[in-house]
Amino acid sequence: MAGSGSRARMAGLTKELTIAGGGLAGLSLAVALRLRGVPVTVLEAGHYPRHRVCGEFISGVGPETLEALGISDLFDDAKRQRSVLWCGEGRMWHRNFLPVAALGISRHELDLRLSSRFLELGGELRTGYRCRPVPADGFVWAGGRKARTGRWVGLKCHARLGDRMEADLEMHSGTNGYVGLAGVEDGWVNVCGLFRIDETRRGRAEELLASYLEGGGNQELANALRDSEVRPGSFSSVAGFELGRQVAVAGLCVLGDAESMIPPFTGNGMSMAFQAAETAIEPLCQWASDRIAWQTAVNQLKGRLRQRFRRRLFVARLLHRVLLDSGGRSFLRNLGALHLLPFHPMLSLVR
Ligand SMILES: Cc1cc2nc3c(=O)[nH]c(=O)nc-3n(C[C@H](O)[C@H](O)[C@H](O)COP(=O)(O)OP(=O)(O)OC[C@H]3O[C@@H](n4cnc5c(N)ncnc54)[C@H](O)[C@@H]3O)c2cc1C
Repeated sequence: MAGSGSRARMAGLTKELTIAGGGLAGLSLAVALRLRGVPVTVLEAGHYPRHRVCGEFISGVGPETLEALGISDLFDDAKRQRSVLWCGEGRMWHRNFLPVAALGISRHELDLRLSSRFLELGGELRTGYRCRPVPADGFVWAGGRKARTGRWVGLKCHARLGDRMEADLEMHSGTNGYVGLAGVEDGWVNVCGLFRIDETRRGRAEELLASYLEGGGNQELANALRDSEVRPGSFSSVAGFELGRQVAVAGLCVLGDAESMIPPFTGNGMSMAFQAAETAIEPLCQWASDRIAWQTAVNQLKGRLRQRFRRRLFVARLLHRVLLDSGGRSFLRNLGALHLLPFHPMLSLVR
C-alpha cells in the first residue's frame, strides 16, 4: 500500500495532519481524511483493544454521517436497539420505543475496528504515545474528557444481565446519578453509570459500581450485578471530569469530548464525536490542499461545531439537572405515571 504522504501528493494534497487522541472523534476523522488522500498520523496514549467507560449505546447519528466518514460498514453487525425503559429508585417511570434504532457495540470492538480501518488506509498510528494540547498548524486535539477536579465519576463493566432486561435500553435514575443497561456483543450487557463523586463509597472494580448503585437507591440492580458474571477486564472508571463545554486553549483545533461533553443519559456523546469529525472534514481538507490558512480552518470548525451542538448541549444540561434533583425526579415520575412524559420531544431536543 502506498504511504500516506505519496498518496496525498498524487491527490494534490501535500500538508500532513497529526491527530492526538485515537478515540471515536480522532479515529473517525483520521479515516475520513485518509479516504480523501490527506496524510494523517494519530498519536494515542493507550493501546487497542481496550475497554473504556461508555454506555456503548449509539443514538442520533445518521447513516449519512457514517458514510461521509467511511465507517458505516463497521456497524453492520451492531445490535439494533429500539425499546426503552426508564426507572427511578426501583420504580418504573416510562416505557417507549426509539423512533430510529440505536446501535450497540462495545468500545473494545469499535475502537479496534476504527484503528484497523485507519491502518488499512495507510495511516500512521503511534500507540502508547501521550502528547500535550499545544496549538500548532496541522495539529488536532481529540484527547477526550479531562479527568481533573470535576464532580463526576463514570464506572462501567459488562455483565451477564440479559435475563433480567425488560427493554433494549434501561435507564435507572438514582439520588446520586444514573446508570444505563444496554446489550453489546456476545450476550454481554453494558452497565455504565455516571455518579457524583462520593468518597465514602468503597469497593474494587464492579463492587464499586454496585456500591454507587446502592448509594443511589438502586438496591435491586446492585444485587443483580453482584450475583452476575462480569466480563474479565471490562471494568473501567474515570473520575474528575466536568460536563458541557470544556475550557478552550486559544488557537487549538479541538473536537469530540475535549471540545464539549454532553451528559451521558442522552446516549448521544459518541454520535457527537462522529458528527464533530464529519464537520471537520471540509475545513481540514481545505487547509491540507493549501486553500485556507490553519487558523481560518480552526475558526471555521469552531463556529460550525457551536452551531451544530448548541441546542442539544443546552437542553441536555437542563434535563441533567432535573434528573439529579429530587424534586425534578418526582416531577418526571409523576408525569410518567400520568402517561404525560414527553419522551419523543425530549429525545429530539438532545439530538
Ligand atoms: C459514564 C459515561 C457514559 C457514557 N455513555 C455513552 C453512551 O451510552 N452513548 C454515547 O453516545 N456516549 C456515551 N458517553 C460519551 C462518550 O463516551 C463520549 O462522548 C465519546 O467517547 C467521545 O469521543 P472522543 O473521541 O471525543 O473521546 P474518547 O473516546 O474518550 O477518546 C479520546 C482518546 O484520546 C486519548 N488520549 C487522551 N489523552 C491523550 C494524550 N494526552 N495523548 C494522546 N492520546 C490521548 C484517549 O486514550 C482516548 O483514546 C458516555 C460517557 C460517560 C462518561
